[in-house]
Amino acid sequence: MSAVASRVAPENESKLVELSNKHDFSLLFLKESGFTFRVNTKTKVIKIPYGGLEYLWTFSLKAWLLYQAYAQAQLNGEQNLDLETINGYAGTSQLTEYLKESLYAESYDPNKNFSALISVEEIDQEVATEIFLCALGWIIWHEIAHIELGHSSLEINTLSIQEEKDADLYSTNWILSSSTIAAESKKRIVGITIALLAIQSLELDSKSCFKGTHPDASNRIFDNLSQHSEIGDEISQAMSIVTLQSMTKIDIAPMSDLNFSDMLGEALYQINVNKR
Ligand SMILES: [Zn+2]
Repeated sequence: MSAVASRVAPENESKLVELSNKHDFSLLFLKESGFTFRVNTKTKVIKIPYGGLEYLWTFSLKAWLLYQAYAQAQLNGEQNLDLETINGYAGTSQLTEYLKESLYAESYDPNKNFSALISVEEIDQEVATEIFLCALGWIIWHEIAHIELGHSSLEINTLSIQEEKDADLYSTNWILSSSTIAAESKKRIVGITIALLAIQSLELDSKSCFKGTHPDASNRIFDNLSQHSEIGDEISQAMSIVTLQSMTKIDIAPMSDLNFSDMLGEALYQINVNKR
């Protein structure tokens, strides 16, 4: 079974082996564009598109750069965040947009130009990779959940919204409920948040393949974060706020009179309101 599925919550390794023996599921990486991570619950093959992987990674990097600048602005008591001043942000943002557009291409193009990343520090790339692996782990566990929970339908577009919610929570609980190290839990919750924010970024484009078949991403973020509010992770909340603000082109403004969870609630609310 995939190292990613195990790596995201290594303390559950023996349970993973049990599940793997029970269902004999496998991962298939496809040279496909699109963000259609999916599972065939009959053949138990989880399908991972390359295009989706690329977008998820660059999205993780962009969110990480934004978060750091945001936290710094908050510390300095600044009123606004000037994106131009973030080192490497412009190139990363450009690459993210480019890869997002590529998701809608008919076929996967392996010859992409990643050179815009050259201006990003190696440490930031490493952090992005950690976040990306947690986000991917959450997506894979969401797919495994469809198998384990006995959801009968095949691949996407046929599962019910309730089944999607159940798969989300199964995955979130798998990743968070046995984690005993605070820093580790924080990293994982950031990964979960990033997976859902990446989906949200596609929904805002109204070209998302999840529309109508999955719960709205903004609801999924709220449901999954509130499930583990005891972790009280301000990092993932701040990251969500700033990423959502950048997606919706709302001015990015650190606010001192609201706490992070209020601000996140407000940002998610705005996204829901703007959709109508
Ligand atoms: Zn699903």
